[in-house]
Amino acid sequence: MKCPFCGHDNTRVIDSRPAEDNNSIRRRRVCDDCERRFTTYEKIETIPLMIIKKDNNREPYDRTKVEAGVLRACHKRPVSAEQINDLVNAVENEIFSIGDREIQSSAIGEIVMKKLKSLDAVAYVRFASVYREFKDVSSFLDELKKVLE
Ligand SMILES: [Zn+2]
Repeated sequence: MKCPFCGHDNTRVIDSRPAEDNNSIRRRRVCDDCERRFTTYEKIETIPLMIIKKDNNREPYDRTKVEAGVLRACHKRPVSAEQINDLVNAVENEIFSIGDREIQSSAIGEIVMKKLKSLDAVAYVRFASVYREFKDVSSFLDELKKVLE
């Protein structure tokens, strides 16, 4: 690592500790030449997750899209912004712990539904009706009955 002050090539790590977010390592370094100190952060390189859509096209995973779907489902429901944020975090944890580089959009939908179900029944049915594309009122009511039982 080059010294940012004098450009000297030899710098040494004098201290390493986890950064506040615990997802990176903070290193204090000192330049062997000018003896000035600076800090670097080491992070795990994140591999972009690709979403396989219904038409088999791929697009990069986008948290805001999951959030938007959940927000729509929770419109005028007694669900706080914090609960929605927690739900999306839980969904992400599950998606990323699978460890695959690609995931079907329908698999994400199923995970969201599972989490919504325990949060708010109406939001769940709304989300499910969009996601599963209920063909008619009776299949919608069947799903609603299942939740309400
Ligand atoms: Zn230096």
